[in-house]
Amino acid sequence: MNLRKTRQGQAIRRVIAESGRPLSPAEIQEAAKHDIPSLGLATVYRVIKRMAEDGEVAAVQLPGEPPRYEDQRVAAKHHHHFHCNDCGRVFDVPGCPGGLDALTPPGFQVDHHELVLYGQCALCRREPTTS
Ligand SMILES: [Zn+2]
Ligand SMILES: [Zn+2]
Repeated sequence: MNLRKTRQGQAIRRVIAESGRPLSPAEIQEAAKHDIPSLGLATVYRVIKRMAEDGEVAAVQLPGEPPRYEDQRVAAKHHHHFHCNDCGRVFDVPGCPGGLDALTPPGFQVDHHELVLYGQCALCRREPTTS
């Protein structure tokens, strides 16, 4: 059976395409439940594994964190991530500060870099509304 063609597969693909940020399997399950209330976490893992093998999604691996997943088209464009310390969600940071050669010891060559920003997202920083 082609998992991608199932209702579950289509709902998961749509969630990932529309999220605009990397999602954990539990977040994908939660978002897809609007469409498919019975969707189980094991199915989410199975579909994501297949999508990763097919090159449709890429794993976002932050230090000390279980993998999250983003659309391969997003992953293909160099960017970085912001991890909210309060809600635990991860957001895309477009672009790159660059200039990292200045940090590199003389005679060394950088092939690749990771950059993660940590703090509070806009939603978590928002002042509680007074009623
Ligand atoms: Zn937050
Ligand atoms: Zn960069």
